[in-house]
Amino acid sequence: MSNVPELFGSLVFNDTTMKERLPKDIYKALKKTIDEGTSLDLSVANAVANAMKDWAVEHGATHFTHWFQPMTGITAEKHDSFISPVGDKVIMEFSGKELIKGEPDASSFPSGGIRATFEARGYTAWDPTSYAFIKDGSLCIPTAFCSYTGEVLDKKTPLLRSMECINKQALRILRLFGNTKAKKVTTTVGPEQEYFLIDKKVYDQRKDLIYCGRTLFGSRAPKGQELEDHYFGVIKPRVSAYMKDLDEELWKLGILAKTKHNEVAPAQHELAPIFTSTNVATDHNQLTMEIMKKVAERHGLVCLLHEKPFAGVNGSGKHNNWSMSTDLGENLLEPGKKPYENTQFLLFLAAVIKGVDEYQDLLRISVASAGNDHRLGANEAPPAIISMFLGDELTSILDSIEAGVEYHAEARKIMDTKVSVLPNFYKDTTDRNRTSPFAFTGNKFEFRMTGSQENIGCPNEMLNTIVAEELEQFADILENADNFDTAVMDLIKKTYSEHKRIIFNGDNYSEEWVAEAERRGLYNLRSMPEALPHYIAEKNIKLFEKHGIFTEAEVRARYEIQLENYSKILNIEALTTLDMAKKDIVPAVVKYLKLLADSANAIKSISDDICVCAETELVKKLSALLGDFSKKIDVLDKAVVAAKDHTDVQETASYYRNTVFAAMQELRAVGDEMESIMSAEYWPYPSYGKMLFSV
Ligand code: ADP
Ligand code: MG
Repeated sequence: MSNVPELFGSLVFNDTTMKERLPKDIYKALKKTIDEGTSLDLSVANAVANAMKDWAVEHGATHFTHWFQPMTGITAEKHDSFISPVGDKVIMEFSGKELIKGEPDASSFPSGGIRATFEARGYTAWDPTSYAFIKDGSLCIPTAFCSYTGEVLDKKTPLLRSMECINKQALRILRLFGNTKAKKVTTTVGPEQEYFLIDKKVYDQRKDLIYCGRTLFGSRAPKGQELEDHYFGVIKPRVSAYMKDLDEELWKLGILAKTKHNEVAPAQHELAPIFTSTNVATDHNQLTMEIMKKVAERHGLVCLLHEKPFAGVNGSGKHNNWSMSTDLGENLLEPGKKPYENTQFLLFLAAVIKGVDEYQDLLRISVASAGNDHRLGANEAPPAIISMFLGDELTSILDSIEAGVEYHAEARKIMDTKVSVLPNFYKDTTDRNRTSPFAFTGNKFEFRMTGSQENIGCPNEMLNTIVAEELEQFADILENADNFDTAVMDLIKKTYSEHKRIIFNGDNYSEEWVAEAERRGLYNLRSMPEALPHYIAEKNIKLFEKHGIFTEAEVRARYEIQLENYSKILNIEALTTLDMAKKDIVPAVVKYLKLLADSANAIKSISDDICVCAETELVKKLSALLGDFSKKIDVLDKAVVAAKDHTDVQETASYYRNTVFAAMQELRAVGDEMESIMSAEYWPYPSYGKMLFSV
């Protein structure tokens, strides 16, 4: 094993490297920009660029790229070499201007009708709050991406804006509690990343995985996850070698990869980093997903990040652990030993409760995607209904405040294992609840609805913005209160009273909860086309505009881009389904039928007395299924063609969901039934068993 402390961050132009390589005054000026958000002068940028280039060249880099996160969900990069001709030779050069600003042609990135394709100019702007790093021989500079006319075209800019908003409002609250020292409040995130690993040879034989990242056909293997023997199970040598290699690559990039384990479904695993500021965590998560895929190839594996690669076993999510903390290291969601006396904590908690209740729809939208539609509400991940888990202790504290009665803390209980050699320890005051979409887990909230392949920028930008809004309302009231202490308690009480319907500590997977949530008037936005219209609801546009996150045009653009993207994904899936059905499955079944018929005839030709009933039965059954299959191909074919009749983005997306997707499911059901009675040798694709159990 290499020396981890030495390896860690070796490909990052981080604080230590900056200190080493930058003149003192330049380092100071840059630090001020990073810590306090002051703008940067060109002379400083020139010096930083030069030092970055020297460092990158020493580490084998020949190019630089502005690295950004357009609305496609993946990261984008365009590489320029450092070369600059001098006579018939070249020298390596990199200027402050090139560091600060890039001008990629923006016309081919989704803009949601904000701009026509002839308006091609876009800018990338250096984000000095996330360190530059080296990847594939290029110096990568994290940037934000916007159009010539200033509209945001990426997932990073709104996140940075939302972080500034919550910083401002949280500081106002802290000042009211007498905190004069904290200079900045940052939101922190630790995203737990789930993924599947399958053998590359098996993957290469599946068009559905190649084009769509998920299986569109496949009858269940005899074994799934019912024994729960994979969760935290011993990691197989091949997977373990992959994980070791992955950790090393991530550490080089300064990513705090910490925890690794097997997940519930066969072939499913998880990686969790140590939390960091939301901005950096977002960049790191994007990088983590990229490196996961790359390292897999080296091991003859493929890493699947789709939310639901396989039917019948769990899909993958990304638990987004979120909190806020000051530059002095105080976690604002830390209840401490006596939460009932911690008014500041209770007020921040109240802000989150109110925000989540008032903007359930936005949180739901922030995790809406074609892939996540298969997961939310499918009895594994949280349902599509947003609610919050607080646990017994916090709930009873808030209940006492609401009722105006004194709260009596229960004494902490000792955990007694009844084995004398084992240590006794104090139990946590609250058990965990793994079914809640938004659970308080001790000193942070865990937003569990995020899909595994999503950019976490979006859910975090929403969380930051809605909590900033509530903190602003609170600060407005409290700054004008005559008696701060009573005003705070009144505010907590009123907020809890008005918004406690969002709190649910029970089983979120149960049918009773769905009915109960409806009684409480909570949203149940089951699919992306159902959720997205809320994006452009007046209250939500107002929220974004008020906090300077998006203009109305930008919100509308995002709404369109996401719905369009949804329809495109379903269209690709439908076309792949048809391709597989017509070109591979039908011919395979026909061939197998011929084999059965030929063999029955051959046997008959020996003697009429030999029974060929098994062959006959199978031919009958398969032929009937094939007939049905063929009719269903026709239905799907027509459904796809008719999609073109819809022009409105919303209508088109709903049509894909209700008609095209339904037709795909029907076709799949017959296909899977045929697979289950066909010869494995004749079936054109590797089985679920091969995919899930061969690594
Ligand atoms: P789980 O039991 O839910 O699987 P893990 O320990 O695997 O939990 O992951 C918890 C995640 O929460 C880690 O990424 C951890 O760094 C992160 N985390 C811990 N404290 C905070 C915090 N204050 N803010 C944001 N994330 C945090
Ligand atoms: Mg978790």
